[in-house]
Amino acid sequence: MREIGAQARVSATLIPPNPDERGAGADLRAAPRSGALTQPFAAGTAEPLIELRGVSREYLLGSTRVTALKDVDLRIGRSEFVVVLGPSGSGKTTLLNLVGALDTPSAGSIVVAGRELGSASRGELARFRRHAVSFIFQTFNLFPGLTALENVQFGLDVAGRRTERGLAAETLRRVGLGARLAHFPHELSGGEQQRVAIARALATGNPVLLADEPTGELDFVTGIEILELLHAQVGRGATVVVTHNREIARAADRVIELSNGRVIADGSPPGGPVAVKTLHW
Ligand code: ADP
Ligand code: MG
Repeated sequence: MREIGAQARVSATLIPPNPDERGAGADLRAAPRSGALTQPFAAGTAEPLIELRGVSREYLLGSTRVTALKDVDLRIGRSEFVVVLGPSGSGKTTLLNLVGALDTPSAGSIVVAGRELGSASRGELARFRRHAVSFIFQTFNLFPGLTALENVQFGLDVAGRRTERGLAAETLRRVGLGARLAHFPHELSGGEQQRVAIARALATGNPVLLADEPTGELDFVTGIEILELLHAQVGRGATVVVTHNREIARAADRVIELSNGRVIADGSPPGGPVAVKTLHW
């Protein structure tokens, strides 16, 4: 196994307060929320943002036990751009779903942004999903009957940020879609749809972006643009975990390679990270 790569470089308590929930779950929300898109994140501790210890996930299919993840130990620092690599069925989606509290491990412990997910109540997990993590999917997962603006606004409503007027449009402009606010998903290209999905994730200001094969449906040039957009978020204080192919991995600070549910390599890509725009696949 290669040595663990980039360490945490930018630190902060990034989880926003939800105006609807003041007084509850304050452990998940220490930083002021407004202006999170434009203000630099404050310096903080070097604690890992994401930590997995001895994590396994098994499924029982009839009498057959399927091991999706086996005894995974990982620490991911703030502002890392991490690629999780591995063939289909190696456990990439399972890993992202566990970190995002969409799934629970069969064994082991997961701590994200100071929250031990296994000991959290359902209410705490719901707050965690709203305020700590944002998902970006291969198939975009936009609501077909909502415009680009409404899709992003919906994400803000779910995150309890509906009072922040103008934020959805501002975030769409930031991903290059200022001229597409009133377009429905079917009126947008695949790359534009993925930008809407990224805007929906970014607008929440959540510190962890989990992107499961986000370029899988896109052509090469569009995939590169989407990757650059995700990579740029690291400079703004986000921690980005992306699954996909080996070529993308060369642009990462750190590559975690899975095989049959186990981590078989973890470190900087050979030769160090390269600029996204120099990739080919
Ligand atoms: P990847 O994203 O790398 O393709 P997954 O995390 O989706 O891999 O799956 C890892 C393994 O777990 C695979 O063998 C898959 O079939 C199995 N698996 C995933 N989800 C389930 C489920 N809900 N029930 C049973 N087996 C599952
Ligand atoms: Mg998958």
